[in-house]
Amino acid sequence: MAIPFNKIYLTGNELRYLQRAIEDGRLSGKGVFTRKCEQFFETRYGFSKIFLTTSCTDALEMAAILTGISSEDEVIIPSYTCVSTANPFILRGARVVFADSSADSPNIDASKIEALITKKTKAIVIVHYAGIACDVGKIMEIVSRYGLILIEDAAHALDSYYQNRPLGSLGHLAAFSFHETKNITSGEGGMLVINDKKYLQRANIVYEKGTDRAAFLNGEIEKYRWRDIGSSFMPSELTSAFLYAQLEKMEEIQNKRKMCWELYYDELKPLEKKGLLKVPGFPSFASNNAHIFSLLCNNPEERSVLISYLKKNNILSAFHFQSLHKSPFFITKHDGRELPWSDFYSDCLLRLPLYAGLKSTAIQEITGLINNFYLT
Ligand SMILES: *Cc1c(COP(=O)(O)O)cnc(C)c1O
Repeated sequence: MAIPFNKIYLTGNELRYLQRAIEDGRLSGKGVFTRKCEQFFETRYGFSKIFLTTSCTDALEMAAILTGISSEDEVIIPSYTCVSTANPFILRGARVVFADSSADSPNIDASKIEALITKKTKAIVIVHYAGIACDVGKIMEIVSRYGLILIEDAAHALDSYYQNRPLGSLGHLAAFSFHETKNITSGEGGMLVINDKKYLQRANIVYEKGTDRAAFLNGEIEKYRWRDIGSSFMPSELTSAFLYAQLEKMEEIQNKRKMCWELYYDELKPLEKKGLLKVPGFPSFASNNAHIFSLLCNNPEERSVLISYLKKNNILSAFHFQSLHKSPFFITKHDGRELPWSDFYSDCLLRLPLYAGLKSTAIQEITGLINNFYLT
């Protein structure tokens, strides 16, 4: 039987909640299920305010609007990430300055950020790759010393921590994803976390297509009007109903994923000890939310051969981001700096199947093949 790279894990209540939402007869956003999801996050992680969005891309777009980023500004972003980390700032006309990953992880190298700051730098966007926290302490120190805005692209980082502080609570703003490939999903979906209250009032307007409809719904004003730029960021109740069914079973999903992750680790760590490949490491400040299990091959050719070998055995593995500074869209805009670590992860990182329904026998089959590959 083939082992897919990813498979949606259903908790059992998805259809029931979708049906309930349909029977309620009110499917646009801000309904009962949307509120339940918001409360879940605010209670569990102490986020002061969240907005469910139709995607993490949208949440980042909202963040780009709220921070007032314009064509006068520069934004520092890791090159090893999803296009959605950068696109929202490009759409506001900003200049994106790509930063390298660190030698120890695909996360931004905090020690190289300061050299990229100019008078025009307004914000830094960090990505907690695989849910493993960036060196937030060092980054926050730079952010406060230069008076910058910190945005967390926490697409991978739900239910993960930096020194016991939830990821997504550390930047002024943070964005999460509930895309099908993430730990908790609604197919497409996301949320924006507002940690700095000064953005809250405007967020209510931007979220409602630039109108003060939120105040109208609260009974504060008699009619709602166009106040600012904005867009349609709100998911429907169908999305929120599905999401809530997943959130209610979050412990179950996370425990299953962690068991898969740890089994991979135990079975592949001996290959690292023999110097044949690398498995992920965790700095002392970071927790593990089992979003991705990746290994590092020694070179791109080895990775290609390993992917084919696994595929021949009906196992689908995948590489991940390709350096954005070398993308067809950006290469002519990039300032020419080499970002060797970003390129290294683009070329050598391999992700193995990981989902809550993945059986340990399947993992043993995969790790058995990888052991064969490296030891024979
Ligand atoms: C998945 C992902 C996104 C985009 O999430 P969507 O919800 O699909 O918009 C953004 N950033 C990173 C790092 C991602 O992995």
